[in-house]
Amino acid sequence: MRTPLIAANWKMHKTADEAVQFGEELASRMQSLEDASAVEVAIAAPFTALWALRDVLAHSPIALAAQNVHFEAEGAFTGEISAGMLRDAGCRYVVVGHSERRTLFAEASEIVARKARAALQAGLAPIVCLGESLPERESGRTLDVLGAQIRLSLDGVEADRAEQLVVAYEPIWAIGTGHTATPEMAQEVHAFLRERLIKRFGEPARGIRILYGGSIKPDSIRGLMAQPDIDGGLVGGASLDPASFFAIIRFE
Ligand code: PEP
Repeated sequence: MRTPLIAANWKMHKTADEAVQFGEELASRMQSLEDASAVEVAIAAPFTALWALRDVLAHSPIALAAQNVHFEAEGAFTGEISAGMLRDAGCRYVVVGHSERRTLFAEASEIVARKARAALQAGLAPIVCLGESLPERESGRTLDVLGAQIRLSLDGVEADRAEQLVVAYEPIWAIGTGHTATPEMAQEVHAFLRERLIKRFGEPARGIRILYGGSIKPDSIRGLMAQPDIDGGLVGGASLDPASFFAIIRFE
């Protein structure tokens, strides 16, 4: 009932030309898929590559995503980009609350919630990222930390918009480190997050996709996707090369 979503997070990589080259190659590889509708694919590109990618992906099943958004619709916010601008550039998704933004740019869950609401208001699907640090996991506080993060990061989101949401569980200790959570570790957290989402939004929350992110590679995706509450992946490093990202898309 939940179509898997595999999303690339390019972070601060690729010029517009490089993005176009990647988009063309991935779109052409995707033509070889027997059933391209069995998995949804998105690319979260830097802002500067969005317009160029929009044209390349227009005739492909690949969706466009941004990596960040401001929570106001417009105004004196030098350097920021609104959800309406992202829609204008062809985005369907936007990543909010990535751990790099939380830790390097002091983005608190309250800000993440404002961004998620702004995205939904503009018709974008926010991919809301959550995750515990290594000390938090090692001290047995993983579920407490995630319980607080999910509550605060979705504050004010209305139930009738919940189905548009995507949640990404990204343990901070697994991002860019080569240490993937085991499928069982990830499943435990995903089941917990699913329960919290159902408590918060009711039955429609069963349709919310919960992605895993953290050093996904072509050889680790299959085990993760075999878990009942893992509905896809947010892929950083391994999404920069079209062959490795395509191998992840073809996880079956
Ligand atoms: C990410 O940045 O969202 C991510 C999961 O990165 P990586 O796959 O490189 O760990």
